[in-house]
Amino acid sequence: MVRVRFAPSPTGFLHIGNARTALFNYLFARKNQGKFILRIEDTDKERSKKEYEIAIMEDLKWLGIEWDEGPDIGGDYGPYRQSERLNIYKEYAEKLLKEGYVYKCYCTKEELEEMRKTAQEKGLPPGYSGKCRYLTREKISEYEREGREFVLRFRVPEEKIEINDLIRGKVIFEGEHLTDFVIMKSDGTPTFNFAVVIDDYLMKITHVIRGEDHLSNTPKHILIFKALGVDLPYFAHMSMTLGPDRTRLSKRHGATSVRAYREQGYLPEAFFNYIALLGWGTSESREIFTKEELINEFSIERCHKASAVFDPEKLLWMNSYYIKNSPIDRIYELSLPFLKSSGLINGIDENKKEYIKKAISLEQEKIKTLKDVPYLIEFFMKEPEYEKENFDKLINQETKGILKEIVEIFERMESFKREEIENIVREFCKEKNYKTSFVFHPLRFAVSGRTKGPDLFGMLELLGKAKVIERIKKLL
Ligand code: GLU
Repeated sequence: MVRVRFAPSPTGFLHIGNARTALFNYLFARKNQGKFILRIEDTDKERSKKEYEIAIMEDLKWLGIEWDEGPDIGGDYGPYRQSERLNIYKEYAEKLLKEGYVYKCYCTKEELEEMRKTAQEKGLPPGYSGKCRYLTREKISEYEREGREFVLRFRVPEEKIEINDLIRGKVIFEGEHLTDFVIMKSDGTPTFNFAVVIDDYLMKITHVIRGEDHLSNTPKHILIFKALGVDLPYFAHMSMTLGPDRTRLSKRHGATSVRAYREQGYLPEAFFNYIALLGWGTSESREIFTKEELINEFSIERCHKASAVFDPEKLLWMNSYYIKNSPIDRIYELSLPFLKSSGLINGIDENKKEYIKKAISLEQEKIKTLKDVPYLIEFFMKEPEYEKENFDKLINQETKGILKEIVEIFERMESFKREEIENIVREFCKEKNYKTSFVFHPLRFAVSGRTKGPDLFGMLELLGKAKVIERIKKLL
């Protein structure tokens, strides 16, 4: 049974790179009828915040990445928050201490600093010198009497460490670069490297799929797994996500959190589809996939070794593609928060629902993000304002005369349907020998206050005869 996990540290909003890690784990689990576990790695008390934990979960849910076990829903291998597992880490640390895999290190901050300096001067690799590895019993009693604090350090053996990474192939870590590392801090809390291994072991994780930035931690993890005497999981280290300038994706590149894209009006399905293509793809370089298709197609072997480049332009294109191809009901529902926050609507007025939906559908082709919706449909809901510059350009004695005649024509119309309006206005142009644009532009401006917009006749039909006449008269 495949069991994978996404293990965010709640120290900020869900980052695009982390969302992709979550997504790949999720797709892999679903593809293999396995389990996807959410584990919150909150042992860093200073930086971990409850509100980020909540936000990460909300954003995963928004993306449609559901977990089978996690801090909110529990599961057989909980608790799923590291801060609630401190006893477990302690227990395993004591076991490793008893068995001699780890030792107490009493070095003070100053001593460690001294050590670092000496290594630097001698041109030796940085890291722990092994000073407390072989302390005499007397020395230990002396330190204990002094009440010195201690950490637990792993006794790194001199051996070559090797893994067969599912994405990167054979990776060899030369043991000598690794020095004895801390697994338990002096306050009795575990280091990141220790907690990860204990959890992956106890939660029966079969595949560790994570970012390449963790590759350098992997030899430490392997040593701990071996000391515990348990089987290693498979490892797959995914390539990093870079910005368009090929440097590591960061705030400099603009929005990097899922939350920011959500607030800018991206569709979850577009975002889901787009991030799936960051460092993964099928051979025919197809781009549009539903969630089900991605689950079917996903395989770790198809993950690229080379870094992925995040391209906001392409994401925007994909978003507008999804907007164009979504049922209007969905776009309406997703637009509601944007319409509310823009002040265009307060609450959902059932009578207006169909009207708003039609307005949105007239603009659907043009919407790039949901944030565009309020502006695009504003004139359907509010009286237009006439900007002087355009007014002067479009409205003069002659066009006023035209608009007057159009009002008269409209007044005589019994029904006010798109086709009929178009026929009658075109007929009018022909009769009077006007270029259609000479009539259409002032008409559009009069009813919407805009020089651009959706299909003119569809827009007139939706606004309705009375409103159209009222607005033209007001402008005149
Ligand atoms: N908590 C780690 C992070 O946020 C992930 C650890 C792991 O996947 O092994 O980067």
